[in-house]
Amino acid sequence: MNYETLYRQSIEQPEAFWAEQARAIDWHKPFDRVLEYDQPPFRRWFAGGETNLCFNAVDRHLAERGEQLALAAISTETGERKHYTYRELHREVNAFAAVLVELGVGRGDRVVIYMPNMAEAVFAVLACARIGAIHSVVFGGFAAHNLALRIDDARAKLVICADAGMRAGKVIRYKPLLDAAIEQAQFPPEHVLVVSRGLDPELTLVEGRDLDYATLKARHLDAQVPVAWLESNEPSYLLYTSGTTGKPKGVQRDVGGHAVALALSMRTVFDVGPGQVMFSTSDVGWAVGHSYNIYGPLLVGATSLLYEGTPLNPDPGIWWQLCAEYGVRTMFSSPTAIRVLKKQDPAWLRKHALPDFRWLFLAGEPLDEPTARWISEGLGKPVIDNYWQTETGWPVLCLHPGLGLKPVKFGSPGLPNFGYKLRVINEVTGQDAAANEKGVLVAQPPLPPGCLTTVWNDDERFLRSYFGHFNELLYSSLDWAIRDDDGYTFILGRTDDVINVAGHRLGTREIEEAVATHSSVAEAAVIGVQDEVKGQVPVVFATLKSPLSEKSARHAAALALQQRVVDQLGAVARPARVYLVGALPKTRSGKLLRRSIQALAETRDAGDLSTLDDPNALEDIRTSLARGADAGS
Ligand code: ATP
Ligand code: MG
Repeated sequence: MNYETLYRQSIEQPEAFWAEQARAIDWHKPFDRVLEYDQPPFRRWFAGGETNLCFNAVDRHLAERGEQLALAAISTETGERKHYTYRELHREVNAFAAVLVELGVGRGDRVVIYMPNMAEAVFAVLACARIGAIHSVVFGGFAAHNLALRIDDARAKLVICADAGMRAGKVIRYKPLLDAAIEQAQFPPEHVLVVSRGLDPELTLVEGRDLDYATLKARHLDAQVPVAWLESNEPSYLLYTSGTTGKPKGVQRDVGGHAVALALSMRTVFDVGPGQVMFSTSDVGWAVGHSYNIYGPLLVGATSLLYEGTPLNPDPGIWWQLCAEYGVRTMFSSPTAIRVLKKQDPAWLRKHALPDFRWLFLAGEPLDEPTARWISEGLGKPVIDNYWQTETGWPVLCLHPGLGLKPVKFGSPGLPNFGYKLRVINEVTGQDAAANEKGVLVAQPPLPPGCLTTVWNDDERFLRSYFGHFNELLYSSLDWAIRDDDGYTFILGRTDDVINVAGHRLGTREIEEAVATHSSVAEAAVIGVQDEVKGQVPVVFATLKSPLSEKSARHAAALALQQRVVDQLGAVARPARVYLVGALPKTRSGKLLRRSIQALAETRDAGDLSTLDDPNALEDIRTSLARGADAGS
């Protein structure tokens, strides 16, 4: 069936559509109703049905593909590669689940997982799913404060951590960070389970609280832990949003709807089926990691590649080398990662023949056209933008190569995914925007399966954050968008990224795009800074592909960027100042932290920096501000 027919059915006859899709997973008990929607916007998909994510991801493949590779965990940091067939994965997950049971963890208990991209992180996630415990993976790059907040919010009974992770050859000790987090936490966990790779010679365990995984596992090597059959709407996991716009929200996911949506997306969006190979470069701590490193590929009997390391080590061709070696069909990464590669010789993209490679998906932030073209032409493969949020768990906007690829329009992640009744709404009138007119992207509830069911322990925040923006009950994406005549949607940035220049509303994102089209620019961030006359003025912070040290050269380069914006967007958008900087502050997930730059530019406190990736980047901004702009004043 083609995309149009299926999409129409998903909107006009959602129950028939989703009942059909639900056949892609195994149900222990069939659901009574496809959709229960008596308390909008809360909805219950597949109500009364009983299933289990671990069973669907692992057990049910044993008969047909027990000896097939399920997981390859590759670390170019430790130099290790670990391979697990479905049968081996089943054994590892059962052993892990047995250890959890021994520690008194059961259905509904929360388990925080603080680990890098290593095989045991996948086992831990699946073991929780097996016994009905609710996992909450916390990105390993977060330090004590962030971790403590999440431990407290979830009231975790157990924290599973690695002894350490590694990045660019450097060992990052996780355990001391966890110890500090538990010190800060109001509700410390009963136990800490430490999975050690022997990376930290100073690893210390707290007597009575901390346990060594290998020691406990030895007692359960051949364990068979029964699957906990969960009602479709019981929580399966919690995952906090990136915190780009404020305090992270604890996104809660269900069981059945989650499984059904992922299975559907594997087939229609990512074009990956049984026996095929998917490589997602995401960290397991992000939504992409949950959906497309762990659950998605395994639910459909595919092979998942899990990667620990940078895209540059041992050389900038490493990702393509792995794609060649493992026969990767679909790869999933982020624009940020591609921009890192963009600073390297494009010859690396052609070094390895990739006969099996079909698609490179990118998501997480706007994909600018120069970056999309650079990677697509360099690899000679289609690059597929797709838009989603931690909240949705699977793409909202995408093209569906699995159903026959639609024409790519650079700058647009594409068309609505199944079950998403999307509209673009004028933020003031609440009316539908006309084609090519800017508004807020919203979804009319009920949200499709796979999307968040609520904010953990905070239905009020769920309603206020997402459904409280318009008179009508609508899920707000909090992103600006326009939809063109062909129905392609373009994301123009976050609703809090709009600046008002002398009464003109400008998206910082559009100005960034204009700056980024200049061939000298690696990356740009634009913020609105208070101005006595105009209210706000745009200010550009840009990194150059080849940094300039000489003052007059910097001035000339900065002027050229100012002019570029004027040429593309008009004089009203002229950046008041341009700063050429060494680095831009980003969240741990690679998203620009405009709110921190803005705070510095307005000489306010930079705010909560706990989600910041590289604190030096802010220092760099501070120094540049003190030194004065490279153009403008
Ligand atoms: P928080 O909600 O805590 O502020 P966050 O929104 O950064 O954090 P995520 O859920 O990780 O947390 O990111 C989702 C957001 O990323 C989207 O709302 C959108 O702004 C941006 N995004 C994701 N994919 C794309 C894409 N393909 N094009 C443009 N923007 C994208
Ligand atoms: Mg968000």
